[in-house]
Amino acid sequence: MDRAEAEALDRTDPLAAFRVRFHVGDTGGAIYMDGNSLGRPAEEVEAAISAAVIEWERRLVGGWEEWIDLPARVGDRLGRLVGAAPGQTLVCDSTTLNLYKVVSAAVAHQPGRREVLAVTDDFPTDRYVLQSIAEGRGKKLRLVDGTEDAIEAALSERTAVVCLSHVHFTTGRRLDGARITTAAQEHGALVIWDLAHSAGAVPVDLDGWGADLAVGCTYKYLNSGPGAPGFVYVAQRHHGRLRQPIWGWFGQADQFEMGERYEPAAGIRSYLTGTPGIIALRAVDAAIGVTEEAGLERLWAKSQALTDLLIERIAARLIPLGAQLATPTGSRGAHVSVRHPEAWRWCRALIEGELVIGDFRPPDVIRLGPAPLYTRFVDCFDAVDRMAATLEAGLERIDPGKGRVT
Ligand SMILES: *Cc1c(COP(=O)(O)O)cnc(C)c1O
Repeated sequence: MDRAEAEALDRTDPLAAFRVRFHVGDTGGAIYMDGNSLGRPAEEVEAAISAAVIEWERRLVGGWEEWIDLPARVGDRLGRLVGAAPGQTLVCDSTTLNLYKVVSAAVAHQPGRREVLAVTDDFPTDRYVLQSIAEGRGKKLRLVDGTEDAIEAALSERTAVVCLSHVHFTTGRRLDGARITTAAQEHGALVIWDLAHSAGAVPVDLDGWGADLAVGCTYKYLNSGPGAPGFVYVAQRHHGRLRQPIWGWFGQADQFEMGERYEPAAGIRSYLTGTPGIIALRAVDAAIGVTEEAGLERLWAKSQALTDLLIERIAARLIPLGAQLATPTGSRGAHVSVRHPEAWRWCRALIEGELVIGDFRPPDVIRLGPAPLYTRFVDCFDAVDRMAATLEAGLERIDPGKGRVT
């Protein structure tokens, strides 16, 4: 593959026209490869945030008449992107908080079972939430390798809950959602999917898989803004059966009765806690609109083509320089990772040199997340060339000191 071939792929890319809406400069500057960590804002999202402020100014407290339904309305819209029929998804709270709610609810629903099953090197917040709940409820947190075979081999009649990332945050490995869900349920376990690195880029079919519960982010491939709310999915069959532990007034059956005792609202609304952030919800709504317009099928097709190109270029340019591919060439998500003993300094050199913005993950990984809405094939091609040139120039001058955020 040469650069002309990458340019040719951009010319025939059916999503090429979306890029200008994200105000990405065409020449100069660093290539943004961190769409898997924080997506870029589209014009529509900026406009929606401004419109939300004006709406607040005009309607003041009267706005709540309509705003109160936004977590469920935007949730239904988001649900369509992850294969969830209406009435099962909310956009609210953070992913961490939503995970706490669903893991607690699921564990409490399986009192006779001792084990919570998860993957050893999963995202920190997931591990910490599981540690908290397992320790608090006297359960054993059983950690295994993140392959389908290892997970299936660990399932038993002791398994209460299985909690997994669909796409792994460092390696980008993608698990078979249908297969694991079925296997876990055959053992009587409940299955929770973390879709942080899937939603908006990778096909997910929660209802089709028969998933029990799920959570995810909107600020990664869904481009809804730093700290935009997460989402939570609870399959219809569990409504009224599982109970989440954070009893707030937004999850109360008759919120404005302000009654003495908490009674969970019917359906998915019982997973609300407190007052939702309306400006952020308007941003999520607009960002979902852009993703819908592009179409998940086209996004996934382009994402695979972008990561194919990255993998080919990494093999051609970086592996000869001592890097290794950390992402499986088979079942993977929308980002690609490379390992290198000097990954931290390499990543700093790329960012400080305004060459490539990726991110470092300990101990030795650089992640490249080419978001298909606004990343070109030439960006992937050039990013790998810049990474190679940086290694060839040597990393000795780079200060190994660490910043607070990587
Ligand atoms: C990004 C990410 C999160 C983030 O959780 P927050 O509560 O939004 O900080 C959670 N889980 C996984 C797997 C992630 O990749």
